[in-house]
Amino acid sequence: MSTRVAIIGAGPSGLAQLRAFQSAHAKGAAMPDVVCFEKQADWGGMWNYTWRTGLDEHGEPVHGSMYRYLWSNGPKECLEFADYSFDEHFGRPISSYPPREVLWDYIQGRVKKAGVRDYIRFNTAVKQVTFDPVSRQFTLTAYDYANGRSTTDTFDFVIVASGHFSTPQVPAFAGFERFSGRILHAHDFREATEFQGKDLLIVGSSYSAEDIGSQCYKYGARSITSTYRTQPMGYTWPKGWEERPLLNRVEGDIAYFADGSSKRVDAIILCTGYQHHFAFLPDELALKTGNRLWPLGLYKGVIWEHNPQLIYLGMQDLWYSFNLFDAQAWFVRDYILGRIKLPEQSEMQADSAAWREQEEGLQSTASMYEFQGRYIKHLIEHTDYPSFDIDAVNQIFLKWKTDKKRDIMGYRDKSYRSVMTGTLAVPHHTRWLQALDDSMEEYLRETAGKGDVNALRQR
Ligand code: FAD
Ligand code: NAP
Repeated sequence: MSTRVAIIGAGPSGLAQLRAFQSAHAKGAAMPDVVCFEKQADWGGMWNYTWRTGLDEHGEPVHGSMYRYLWSNGPKECLEFADYSFDEHFGRPISSYPPREVLWDYIQGRVKKAGVRDYIRFNTAVKQVTFDPVSRQFTLTAYDYANGRSTTDTFDFVIVASGHFSTPQVPAFAGFERFSGRILHAHDFREATEFQGKDLLIVGSSYSAEDIGSQCYKYGARSITSTYRTQPMGYTWPKGWEERPLLNRVEGDIAYFADGSSKRVDAIILCTGYQHHFAFLPDELALKTGNRLWPLGLYKGVIWEHNPQLIYLGMQDLWYSFNLFDAQAWFVRDYILGRIKLPEQSEMQADSAAWREQEEGLQSTASMYEFQGRYIKHLIEHTDYPSFDIDAVNQIFLKWKTDKKRDIMGYRDKSYRSVMTGTLAVPHHTRWLQALDDSMEEYLRETAGKGDVNALRQR
């Protein structure tokens, strides 16, 4: 009987795993019996935009945390697949910071070409996974909403690719109960125009704070006040945006901060991050970690050391993203296919501890993406995933950081060169700050007519 593999989630990580198996199969390897469970109606994970918040049409927690008008916050040259370039997908150079829909299209292009959609059970939410130490098999229970029935299957391996930016971390502050405006978490933010003409308070100082604040500024918020716990973001903000130390309390519509200052605000957006949350896993199988570069318990960042039949993809804090998931998926594939052997548990733990020790010593931003780059390099040395110039990608990260520091509202107008193809990105036809329509049609306008866009979409 062939090896049975469950993949939970058809986002970029789960899709990387399907593509990894398919690519080995295309070269003559046996294809395991793979089932990918996806609770949404379509693939792409976070990149598959939904207007919904709260619960979805089936009563499941809405997965999506992306919002309208979201553009990549890092250069596409840092996330490009090594086996499927932007040039191959779009047939011409595009800009370095595409909007969400364009990246979603790119993600889909590779898996459409690989022909792996039939492995996915859509509208099917995984509810429970248990492991039987005697049979050494997992039992996975899911709910198939398309057919209105519960399903139970057994598997030799379970790959958790359900993401970790979906279950919000929601702190409370004194006075929230009586605040007269809207309070929401970034997970539920969708439409920046809702805050036109409003005075907005943003709690947090990381990517969501920076980007949601920027969106709201771009779409006409009257003022942005962002409040930090540990350190300010420190950019040169446009007029109307200021940073304050941590929110202390709210009285009516007045927010008071740790330095005693105050500000009247209309709405509060909590950009306070996400939890690694696996409701379908028993405690002993569930990864418990904060958002960091080296979560403990995962050999080579992917294999659950206490039970190596359980695998996690994409659980690290992300500098790299799509090609990181690929490096992991190819490694996992070769482990499942028996091409990579695992050492004893103690050796796996020692290996992880050494990575963790390195991670704890990281001080500068550059040392963090370089660390993740080293990790990717290490993984792909073990597989046939196409090698690429990670040092050159690190250099792009460096330029990105510098460009951002120089102009937080203008960095998305910069162009970088692909390390996969050598193609230099072309500037977008409209500067990011003026580009209010983020649709793919508008993005590809000018050098491609509508017909061309439709042809590209159908790939
Ligand atoms: P996800 O994309 O989260 O996909 C997980 C999938 O698992 C989903 O399809 C979900 O429906 C499914 N799932 C979850 N639970 C179950 C279940 N119980 N049963 C069945 N299916 C389930 N990265 C970048 O590289 N560039 C960016 O610009 C960028 N912007 C981002 C903006 C925001 C607001 C957020 C939140 C994240 C952003 N990211 C960005 C990071 C993004 O999370 C990754 O790019 C990528 O989507 C992670 O892929 P994944 O497959 O690991 O997880
Ligand atoms: P994050 O990077 O984990 O940051 C969480 C932030 O919340 C930190 O600033 C943290 O402060 C703060 N925080 C947590 N608890 C708090 C509390 N009780 N009080 C005050 N502050 C608190 O999460 P994120 O910013 O949501 O980013 C998640 C992912 O989404 C990232 O991978 C990012 O790249 C992605 N993203 C991308 C875009 C885009 O434009 N494409 C937009 C948004 C997000 P401390 O520093 O004090 O811990």
